[in-house]
Amino acid sequence: MQRTAQLALRITLIYTVFGLLWITLSDRVLNSLINDPDLLASAQLIKGWGFIGLTALLLYFLSVRALTTYQQAFESDPLTKLLRHDRFKLLLSQQLQHLSPDQSYVLVYFDIDHFSEINKTVGHDKADIIIQRLAKHLRSRFAIEALLARLAVDQFAVASVADHGEQKVEQVYERIMSILQQLSIESGCELKATYGVALAPQDAKHAKGLMWSASEALRLGKQRNRTQINFFNPDLSAQQMQAIKLSRDLRFALENEQLTLAYQPQFNMHKQVTGVEVLVRWHHPEEGPISPALFVPLAEHYGLIDKLTSFVIRQSYSELTPFLGRQLSRVSVNTSAAEINNAALIDKLEHVVSSLPDYSQYLQLEVTETAALENLEFARSQMVRLGRLGLRFSLDDFGTGYSSLSMIKELPLHELKIDRSFISSMLNEHGARTIVESVINIAKGYKLVVVAEGVEHEEEFALLASLGCSEVQGYLLAKPMPIDALQQLLT
Ligand code: C2E
Ligand code: CA
Ligand code: CA
Repeated sequence: MQRTAQLALRITLIYTVFGLLWITLSDRVLNSLINDPDLLASAQLIKGWGFIGLTALLLYFLSVRALTTYQQAFESDPLTKLLRHDRFKLLLSQQLQHLSPDQSYVLVYFDIDHFSEINKTVGHDKADIIIQRLAKHLRSRFAIEALLARLAVDQFAVASVADHGEQKVEQVYERIMSILQQLSIESGCELKATYGVALAPQDAKHAKGLMWSASEALRLGKQRNRTQINFFNPDLSAQQMQAIKLSRDLRFALENEQLTLAYQPQFNMHKQVTGVEVLVRWHHPEEGPISPALFVPLAEHYGLIDKLTSFVIRQSYSELTPFLGRQLSRVSVNTSAAEINNAALIDKLEHVVSSLPDYSQYLQLEVTETAALENLEFARSQMVRLGRLGLRFSLDDFGTGYSSLSMIKELPLHELKIDRSFISSMLNEHGARTIVESVINIAKGYKLVVVAEGVEHEEEFALLASLGCSEVQGYLLAKPMPIDALQQLLT
């Protein structure tokens, strides 16, 4: 304040001296140059107006500068240049207004744990440097995609539009964690944070409510357990933490080849092996075996499905090579809904298959009917494209979705798989039996192989044989097995 007053005093003094000099000197100059009193009066009038104009201009520039500095100080934090509370709220509210119905918005508050102790240990100056570095890293990691604010000494906010809310939260969380890890190494202090997360529109639609929700989530998080993501919606916290942890473990498992494969043979009605279905297996180091029904959707959601499918194709190729074209002429690999509906993922699939040219003639992709139905025309075009590499297609879980005849007609299929639910109930339920019978007839009509899934009993096998089913797969004849067991079965 004292400095500001001194500066203002200095400017005033300069102005006064300049004004006095101008008045006395300019009058003298005019008097020496002009003798005519009328002309002199006019010249002095012009000089007076000129002086007013000049000082007005000076005043304008000085005010602009002062007000801009004032506004900047008000809007952004002087130490970090991140947004301050009010400006953040204003921008947040503008962004929320422009949110489209299919988008969500993620607001993450985080607060460094035990910062007051760090402050005491390293001193204020060093603590300030840590805060400045943190802000710098935040700016470079989030670029323009997010609004960044410093809301209190050690409390920050990251706000961003998201197509998949929870996925975005994980991304933000991982980035902040890695920044803190890096800063911990640089500064020698262990830096951790507690996170409070609110999502729009679920938790609140407007800036004020969303900010309140995030800070409430953070407050409760600090009370309970530090260093975790705390969602405003507590159910989401537990679920999300679990999903985030599992997805991280899955990524690790994929990168470190911790996943394995099981093969389930398929048989013709003479009980001879015709092919195998490849099923992925994950034995989690702490949680034990996790069902693919649980982690495959997780892989889809967290953008790991292409890696998973590539692994399944490559690994099955390397394990099955000795049998291809001999005991085995068909290998079925599952694809997920996310893949068949996404051109970029199909590109990757194409790339993997092209890198194993001997494999494609044996390879069959299982596509679920719900996946194919999302956009039938698109699915068809992708299947035709992959078909050029020699791949064949099977329609999986047939009967569970909105099966339609047009699908069988439109898609370049080689096989239909009747879902297990029909097989297990067909002995007792007339309706299920009718469906199985019709599917077998339809498949025959279109010259497709028809595989009954989940055959567990001899009676089911006998009925399927009498209905004219071409192949079966199920615990009755073989369970999914590791490659060693398959080798024994085949040789
Ligand atoms: P799905 O494609 O319908 O696979 C058949 C599932 O039925 C397998 O379960 C198999 O172990 C099980 N099964 C086979 N015969 C019988 C039987 O007689 N009785 C009973 N009760 N079950 C039987 P799994 O291996 O747990 O796989 C579950 C689902 O996970 C699969 O369903 C598939 O949708 C997905 N999945 C498995 N592996 C992969 C993969 O590599 N990629 C993708 N995208 N999805 C996979
Ligand atoms: Ca399947
Ligand atoms: Ca199936």
